[in-house]
Amino acid sequence: MISFIGAGPGDPDLITVKGKKLIDNADVIVYAGSLVNPEVLSGAKDSAKIYNSASMTLEEVIDVMKDGEERGLKVVRVHTGDPAIYGAHREQMDILDKLGIKYEVIPGVSSFLATAAVLKKEYTLPGVSQTVIITRMEGRTPMPSKESLASLSKHHSTMIIFLSMGMMDEVVEALKEGYEATTPVAVVYKATWEDQKIVTGTLNDIAAKVKEAGIKKTALTVVGDFLGDEYELSKLYDKTFTHEFRQGVSE
Ligand code: SAH
Repeated sequence: MISFIGAGPGDPDLITVKGKKLIDNADVIVYAGSLVNPEVLSGAKDSAKIYNSASMTLEEVIDVMKDGEERGLKVVRVHTGDPAIYGAHREQMDILDKLGIKYEVIPGVSSFLATAAVLKKEYTLPGVSQTVIITRMEGRTPMPSKESLASLSKHHSTMIIFLSMGMMDEVVEALKEGYEATTPVAVVYKATWEDQKIVTGTLNDIAAKVKEAGIKKTALTVVGDFLGDEYELSKLYDKTFTHEFRQGVSE
């Protein structure tokens, strides 16, 4: 059984207990070296064979997995954050299905959740936004035509933009089609890593600030009024509100 593991956003303590145990017991480790913090592998067995998939093709990754599996070795495939977000693990799982090789997926803390944590913000503020859009700008991977940033921005929801740091000017232009130019934006570089950087501003000035900070990759852009200070208190903890676990009082 091959284990796909979400390594978390960077801080090596932010992997799940289950993921860490699997890595520490693995014989073969294939990890996404461009973004996974190598410290996540610090507990690996001395005998473990470690491959960095950054320089490998899909076929090579599959060959390593298949070979390990055939030899009865424990193989783990370590992805950054959570594999389900721009992790490209679906194509691997589909080939494993065809080969009749069993696998499991261990989730991880995605960088978009680590970003909320380091910003100390909640993406779903009552009365502000109850919807979170995770997206990216079109780059070498094309975007489906109904998912342009400009059209998504018309919802005024909380939006999280992956993978698009090299196109900050275009991102801002597209976002301004929907959001007010004064809408707050934060860019978080390497959330939870030691060299993490946070840049905050509005759609008007964020591109210049990001350039000034020298951020070119490994960052997320989050936009929306959830970054502001106006919102309604939640019903869940409202003393006049009755729900399954608590009787409300009348005022
Ligand atoms: N599966 C990963 C995302 C992989 S795509 C996850 O769940 O986080 C790679 C992109 O993720 C990067 O270009 C960047 O936009 C973002 N990213 C990954 N780690 C990050 C971190 N620690 N801080 C900010 N952005 C990060």
